[in-house]
Amino acid sequence: RKHSDPGGVTFYNDTLAEKLGREVWLRNKLARAIEHQELFLMYQPLISTKTGRPVSLEALLRWRVDGNLIPPDEFIPIAEQNGLIKSIGAWVLQQAFIASKKLNETHPGMIMGINVSLLQFQDEHFTQMISSLLHSVDAQPEYINLEITESAFSLEKHLLLTKIKQLQEMGFMVSIDDFGTGYSSLASILELTTNAIKIDKSFVDNLDTKGEIIIEAVIQIANRLGQHVVAEGVEYQWQADTLKQMGVHLIQGYLYAKPMTWPNLLQYLDEAHS
Ligand code: C2E
Ligand code: CA
Ligand code: CA
Ligand code: CA
Repeated sequence: RKHSDPGGVTFYNDTLAEKLGREVWLRNKLARAIEHQELFLMYQPLISTKTGRPVSLEALLRWRVDGNLIPPDEFIPIAEQNGLIKSIGAWVLQQAFIASKKLNETHPGMIMGINVSLLQFQDEHFTQMISSLLHSVDAQPEYINLEITESAFSLEKHLLLTKIKQLQEMGFMVSIDDFGTGYSSLASILELTTNAIKIDKSFVDNLDTKGEIIIEAVIQIANRLGQHVVAEGVEYQWQADTLKQMGVHLIQGYLYAKPMTWPNLLQYLDEAHS
């Protein structure tokens, strides 16, 4: 099944001056991106290793400006620097809630994963904001999984655990994203009260060397804690086979599907379930 890849990355080879100029330009443009309707979400399926079928999605933000797609790895940090991430993050939540609600009419139980920036998550009004968004859209939190990056471990522990608990009490699932890339030690996952752990692509890339040892340890601990384990960035069949055999529950990667537009997603899901 072939899908076009409007999520592809544009490469630039700029001098420093051009780079700084570009950043200023991007920052100014980004401030109006919502109002100019330049943002949209793409959706990447996550496949259950048990059934081989898509059971979950990740909403991934895209920004098209003057016909060019700017990769999120470039504009999210800019949005985080100047505070725009709050309005952009709220927009993402709203759009993904709407998508989740629509999707569950035809594909009940399909989980929608949404990336939440640490800056959003940290905001003292975050839980209140997300709760009112949820009610205005009338989506079901049971089908929504909030992905918080491992950098959340940099927060004070009590604060982190309290926020996670509040969100879970509202009905959301919460998972830790990019696990293994930063602040946490293996021991710190013992205290995690999230619903799932997403192992970073870098470990999947090194599955044939040391990545396997780490993934094995994470799976063992996660199983004991009753947490799901997700592997991202799976590109090869042998990786999927190994990860499945090791006990990973969900697999996300180009091997199965790239991020796709909403219409392509609906078509993909219809084909996957027929
Ligand atoms: P992430 O949360 O780790 O998302 C997974 C990234 O890996 C996505 O890149 C996805 O397209 C890519 N990916 C998935 N499978 C494969 C694969 O098999 N091979 C390769 N090479 N890549 C794969 P994307 O969409 O460019 O997003 C990059 C990052 O931008 C995300 O990493 C996330 O940190 C951030 N991001 C994206 N959307 C949002 C958003 O709505 N809010 C926030 N705060 N961050 C976002
Ligand atoms: Ca993510
Ligand atoms: Ca990730
Ligand atoms: Ca990542």
